[in-house]
Amino acid sequence: MKKNTQHIIDSFGRTHNYLRISLTEKCNLRCFYCMPLEGVTHREAEKFMTTEEVVGIAKEFVKRGVTKIRLTGGEPLVKKGADEIIRELGKLSVTLSLTTNGILVDRFIEVFKEAGITSINVSLDSLQEDRFNAISRRSHFQKIRDNIQLLLDEGFGVKINVVLIKGTNDDEIVDFVQWSVREKISVQFIEFMPFDGNSWNRDKTVSEAEIITTLEDRFGAKNLIKLEDAAHSTSRNFKIDGALGTFGIISTVTNPFCDTCNRIRLTADGKIKNCLFSNDEADLLNAYRNGDELSPIINVAMHNKKAGLGGLKQLDNETINQHENRSMITIGG
Ligand code: SAM
Ligand code: SF4
Repeated sequence: MKKNTQHIIDSFGRTHNYLRISLTEKCNLRCFYCMPLEGVTHREAEKFMTTEEVVGIAKEFVKRGVTKIRLTGGEPLVKKGADEIIRELGKLSVTLSLTTNGILVDRFIEVFKEAGITSINVSLDSLQEDRFNAISRRSHFQKIRDNIQLLLDEGFGVKINVVLIKGTNDDEIVDFVQWSVREKISVQFIEFMPFDGNSWNRDKTVSEAEIITTLEDRFGAKNLIKLEDAAHSTSRNFKIDGALGTFGIISTVTNPFCDTCNRIRLTADGKIKNCLFSNDEADLLNAYRNGDELSPIINVAMHNKKAGLGGLKQLDNETINQHENRSMITIGG
């Protein structure tokens, strides 16, 4: 990296070197905690970044010290030109990865390899077909399971994202961890987070303490091994003694990790969101189209980043009822 790189540092001294780019608001699933039942308002294609614009804007961030890019959405692989975007971003000096629902993964294996992607997050909230179909309001369970196996067979690192919701899938904690015992995967349990249109209620979150108690009861406390967490890791990671894989817990609601946050989000319509829970947005796409410099806009947007949770005191029912935000599908998880 050049010595004179002007890193993206916020007013709390946090350096932001991790960019999450949402490629689209469209999706081939309808997960109830992400996509509002009524869907999202359809907007014309020109409101969204093109392939060239995604790559051009990403390059500006790389000049500013971004070293890690994750593609997300919506479902990133339904974006027209996703293959070209992945190939072009793969040429930058960044660690490139993506979060996908897995349905289209088999069509992209060679593209992932060409782009130097080594690890992929696949979301799967239940190991029971009927339940998964009810959560995602579609029927692609077997395709996703096959594509997870394909990724493993092709040598990719695979993380399985599981949004735990009380009364929906919290009785599968042990089953998911058993999977990580048999297979070299990393299961990531994610607390259910509040976004517009997803009927969130704090009582539906499953805390780290509850997960650990369930696993200690099943596997015995001495068999739960705490692993060292990487710098900026949002998950607290563990493995069962002798397991091939690992598991982690992301407690955004009950134990947020804002102090060490290094993330910037770019929405599919080209807005910077400096925090998942902030409704401040800065328009980079129109600036890019006008040929304006992006750096000053990035600086202001990130300077305005709050110490934690987008300035909300906490994520409780009362606070969230009074707070407007985008739905998750239009932010990019
Ligand atoms: N379509 C891709 C997928 O499902 O992996 C990428 C986009 S999705 C918005 C990214 C991640 O956000 C997924 O792992 C999803 O489970 C998670 N997510 C969506 N809504 C959430 C919520 N309300 N709380 C916690 N995680 C959520
Ligand atoms: Fe689509 Fe992913 Fe949201 Fe599910 S979580 S609706 S797969 S974007």
